[in-house]
Amino acid sequence: MVVLDFSECGKCNYTCTSILFQRNFKNWTSGNNDINKFIQHTQLSAHTYYEVKSALEWIPYDRLYDIKYIEEDDEFGKVYRANWIDGRLNKWNGKNQNWEREDQNMFVILKILNNPASISFEFIYKTAVPYKVYGITQDPETKNYMMVLNYKCKKCNKVCNSMHFQQTFIDWTSGNNDIDKFIQDTQLSDAHDDVKKALEWIPYDRLYDVKYITKNDEFGKVYRANWIDGRLNEWNDKNQNWEREDQNMFVILKNLNNPAIVTSKYIDKV
Ligand SMILES: [Zn+2]
Ligand SMILES: [Zn+2]
Repeated sequence: MVVLDFSECGKCNYTCTSILFQRNFKNWTSGNNDINKFIQHTQLSAHTYYEVKSALEWIPYDRLYDIKYIEEDDEFGKVYRANWIDGRLNKWNGKNQNWEREDQNMFVILKILNNPASISFEFIYKTAVPYKVYGITQDPETKNYMMVLNYKCKKCNKVCNSMHFQQTFIDWTSGNNDIDKFIQDTQLSDAHDDVKKALEWIPYDRLYDVKYITKNDEFGKVYRANWIDGRLNEWNDKNQNWEREDQNMFVILKNLNNPAIVTSKYIDKV
């Protein structure tokens, strides 16, 4: 019997993160050889702090919760959103002999690897490119393997503000398709690095002290209100939510022309 001593990396000449991943290979399996090989490959390539962030993991399905159907995708079929209890790998903690993680409960997207029988190393490799992939999981009921990932913005090449907005499209609706589309467009196209350029859907009950101010030729009645939440400032990875500023700020409300549509859209304070 050969006793393998995974103590020193041939490349780094010390016990680097690649070795630490390797030591753990015996403690998990996806149940699929190609998937195991693929995940292992990404882990063996992770010699440095920065490379660890590109390593994939086997993510047991029960580490995901609040799994919601989002949309049908031409390539992948059904796409889901979930929260990931553990959050992504950050760095090795020598004291605890375990990985430190960040962004606990983060939003992730689940995409089905279509045909488990045809999953090959090359296929997963190619499929993973446009996304920030954290790992692979398996739905115990359908037996579907799913990539656990986030959309990487094509423009910014990372999970930018626009991608954070996109993650929450299923959480709100104005009740009007055109308005939804309009708000979503501002979130997807204008807010990559400046969240202040995005509009959002503001439920009317987040406004208070609504007072009539004046009549306007274009919009009809104009109101003033206070906005409990205040405007978007920046994404907070820790809370997996937006940080806001200017809580209870004054805002002006103008009717969108079609009286069927009540605006509660954010219009900057003049
Ligand atoms: Zn190494
Ligand atoms: Zn972007």
